[in-house]
Amino acid sequence: MLPSTTIRVYNTLSKTKEPFTPLSPGKVGIYLCGPTVYKESHIGHAVGPVIFDTIVRYLKYSGYEVKWVVNITDVDDKLIAQSRERGVPMAQIAEEMTIDYLNNLAGLGVDQITDLPKATEHMRAIIAFIEALIVKGCAYASGGDVFFDVAQDPTYGKLSNRSADDQQGEGGGAASKKRNPGDFALWKSAKPGEPSWDSPWGLGRPGWHIECSAMCKALLGETFDIHGGGLDLLFPHHENEIAQSECCHGKPMVKYWMHNGLMRKAEAGKVGGRGDRESSEAGDAAAATKIARSHGAGGLADLIAQYGGERLRFLLLRTHYRSTSVFGDEALAEAGTALEAFYRFFERFHKNSHQRFCNLIPAPLRTEPTPSDEPLLQEMQTLRQSFLDKMDDDFNTGGAIADLFEMVRTLNKYADEHQLDRFAEPTVPAADAHQDQQMRHWVAAAHILRELSNVLGLFTSQPVKRGGGDALQPKLIELLIQLRKEAREKKDYATGDSIRQRLGELGVTLEDKKGTTEWRIGSGS
Ligand SMILES: [Zn+2]
Repeated sequence: MLPSTTIRVYNTLSKTKEPFTPLSPGKVGIYLCGPTVYKESHIGHAVGPVIFDTIVRYLKYSGYEVKWVVNITDVDDKLIAQSRERGVPMAQIAEEMTIDYLNNLAGLGVDQITDLPKATEHMRAIIAFIEALIVKGCAYASGGDVFFDVAQDPTYGKLSNRSADDQQGEGGGAASKKRNPGDFALWKSAKPGEPSWDSPWGLGRPGWHIECSAMCKALLGETFDIHGGGLDLLFPHHENEIAQSECCHGKPMVKYWMHNGLMRKAEAGKVGGRGDRESSEAGDAAAATKIARSHGAGGLADLIAQYGGERLRFLLLRTHYRSTSVFGDEALAEAGTALEAFYRFFERFHKNSHQRFCNLIPAPLRTEPTPSDEPLLQEMQTLRQSFLDKMDDDFNTGGAIADLFEMVRTLNKYADEHQLDRFAEPTVPAADAHQDQQMRHWVAAAHILRELSNVLGLFTSQPVKRGGGDALQPKLIELLIQLRKEAREKKDYATGDSIRQRLGELGVTLEDKKGTTEWRIGSGS
C-alpha cells in the first residue's frame, strides 16, 4: 500500500500549504535543530521534540518509513562560558546536560528519534564541508577564522526575507577579519585555554550554523524532506544553513521547511524559543527560569516530576504548532482538567470491560475502516475521519484532540444508554448474547480512541496518580520550609536538619540562598 497522499504541510519557504510528497516514495528524512547542552532544559526545549515526535508518529501511521535526526550542539561559546564559570570541563557539562535533555524527552514520551548526532563527533565532516565551500569560492579564511561570503549567494534571504545586514555581530574582534559585516563564521580560531580542534586554519572550533549543514548532509544527504525548528531559528540560523548547503551542493537543501511558533508565559513576555536553542537572549533564559521557579522548580525535569510528562505533552499539542502557545498555571490547570475527562473514562472502561485502555493494541497503520451497521461504530468512524482530516491539514493536533474528546463523550453516552456500568458489579448476572454484543461494540469503539491517541503519543501507559493535587503540593513544601526556618531561628537545628533530610528522602531538595530557601524536586546539584 502506498502511503497517504492527503497530507498537506505549510512550507515556510513557499509560505503556502503544499501537498506532502517526499523525495523518495514512502521514505521521509527529517532534521530538527536540537539543543545547545550548556544548561538544564526548560519548557521551551520540550516544544520542538513533542511536535516533531507527533509528526513522525503520524507519518509512520500513514505508511511512511521515517528517519528523524535531532542534533546536539556540544561545542559553543555558551558552553565555554559555562565551563569557565563552573570550573568544569566543557565535555563534562555537555555530557550532564545531554543526559538531562534525554531524560526529559523520555518523560515526555518522545521516543521516535532515529539519530542524535553530536557536533564534536562530526568534526571531520564539518571541516571537509568548510574546505569545500572555500574551494567553491563561497567562503574565505582570514586570520585563523573562516567566514561565509554572503555576497557570493544571490539568493540569500529567501527563507526569512531578511538580509545579511541583519546578522548579529560575531564579536571578539571577528568584524575586522570580515569582507562584509553580514558574513558569518564557519570556523572560529581558539583563544588560549579554549577547547579546540586541529584544522587547515589552525586550532579552533566550528560555528553553530555549519554544524547543522554538515550533520544534515552526513545523516540525510544533500537534499532531504523536512527541516524543522522554532521560528526564532528562521534567521539567521536556517537562512545560513541553506546558504552553506546550497552553495556547497548546488541543489536545494530541503523540500519542506517547518517552523513552530513561539511560547509565551501566561502574564507577559516570551518564555524562550519554542525551538531548541534560545537565540542567545539572556532575558529569555531568565524568564524561563522564573516561570519554572514560580512552580517551585528549576527546569523541565522538575515540571515533569511535578505534573507528569503526559500533561505537558497534552498542553503543547492542544495548540497548533505554528501558533503561539501559552504556558503558566492556568494552562497547566486546564490541561489537567481536560486529561481528567480521559482518565475517568479509562477507569470506567477498566471497571466495565475488565481491560486496561492502555493495554488495548492500537492499529499501527492508517487503513480503510471495515463498514459497520452499528451506530456507535459508525459515529466513531466519522470522528476518526474528522481526526485524520485535521492531522492531514498541516498536523492540526489541537483540532485532532477535540475529536478525541468527542469520542470519549460518545463512548460515555453509549455506556450510559446501555447501562454498561452494571458489568462492574461484583455479582453481575450472566450477560445474554445481546448484552455481550453491546460490550463488544463498546470495546471495539474504544480501540479507535486508542489507535488515534497513540498517534499523538498520548495514553500509552496507565495514568500516574498524583496524590494531593498539584496546587497543594508546593504549598505543603513551603509550609515545611517555613517550619524549618522557625526551628532554626529558635536554634533547634536538629529539627531543621531533620525536615531537610526527610524532604530529601521524598525527593525534595532544599537550597539556602541569601536569606531564602529554594526547593526543587529531584536531586540537587
Ligand atoms: Zn540547526
